[in-house]
Amino acid sequence: MHRFLVLGYGAMGMWHAGHLKKSGFADAAGVYDIDPDRRALAREHGFQVFDSMEELLQCEADMAVAATPNESHDELACMLLRTGKHVLVEKPAALNEKELLHMYAEAEKTGKILAVHMNRRFDRDFLAVQNVLTQGLLGSPFRLESRIHGSRGVPDGWRRKNPGGGMLYDWGVHLIDQALLAFQDDLPVRVYCRMSHILEKEVDDGFALTMYYGDGKTVIIEVSTCNFIPMPRFYLCGTTGTAVIRDWREPCQVTQCTAWREEDVMPVIRGNGITKTMSPRDELTTRSFQTEQRLGDPYELLRNFCAAAEGKEELLVKKEQTLSVMRVIDAAFRSAETGSPVEISLR
Ligand code: NAD
Repeated sequence: MHRFLVLGYGAMGMWHAGHLKKSGFADAAGVYDIDPDRRALAREHGFQVFDSMEELLQCEADMAVAATPNESHDELACMLLRTGKHVLVEKPAALNEKELLHMYAEAEKTGKILAVHMNRRFDRDFLAVQNVLTQGLLGSPFRLESRIHGSRGVPDGWRRKNPGGGMLYDWGVHLIDQALLAFQDDLPVRVYCRMSHILEKEVDDGFALTMYYGDGKTVIIEVSTCNFIPMPRFYLCGTTGTAVIRDWREPCQVTQCTAWREEDVMPVIRGNGITKTMSPRDELTTRSFQTEQRLGDPYELLRNFCAAAEGKEELLVKKEQTLSVMRVIDAAFRSAETGSPVEISLR
């Protein structure tokens, strides 16, 4: 049984403590939160609770999960590493590339594993996008759009404050990580980002990020917290087909072109004129279907972390991947500040 310390018992720390328990191969050896009310809650939930960080660090468990606000990850993860713990840190691992390199340097120095909890790699919708791409269902893909449109503003608390708040650090990290994995044979060379401040002044309450690839592919990532009719979660275009996932609960719809040329397309009246080429296609020249849905294994990351700590597997969330996500985020902030596209090198 792998025993973990849980640092932070807020929404995600509580989730981790329960997740460890349910896994059957790991458990929470003890919990510490800076807030006495959260410690009391952890006690009520039946966990061993420490009353100080020092007590937590003295516990003999050699694994830890850090689920504290974003701006504390660097300092707390390094503290855990230095006291001999393998660390699974919540996303975003750090606030910028400099902090992240500092954390990985500490991991190397101490010989411990540092991994980031990129759980949304295993979401059903993203797995469906990966499946469409690996099966080549759309010909050559040239555009991926990934959106999270909410309508409840930025959650209360530290997410509304700097440093570490805002939606780019929140959902942005997951969506950038997914996009880099989706088109993993290529890398973006330029990013352009605009932040929105519709509801929040201090932090971004949403953003629109475009990643341009050397071969012409484009990724659009958008997060908003004030959209009462959301746009599709994923929209993926290739030279011979299109795929869409309208929301988390829905399957992936694919339409493939079966005959590019149509001999008998009649012009149709659209708006105040006629069009032939922009007329929607029908089943004579397309084939539409839903792809099979695969549920991701909710314990895959945790199991991999434990195996990597024992030297039995390579980490699924690799250092280079985490660094690439952080570099895109740094560039996105620079782009938003300057109002211009920013060149990036992820190699
Ligand atoms: P939260 O505010 O609900 O909980 C954070 C907890 O950390 C609070 O209880 C707070 O008292 C405690 N804390 C703050 N400083 C501390 C310190 N120095 N030592 C110990 N405890 C401390 O926030 P949350 O939603 O649980 O988010 C925590 C982290 O998890 C963030 O990095 C966030 O981005 C991440 N997160 C990840 C996912 C995911 O799906 N991977 C989902 C939500 C949040």
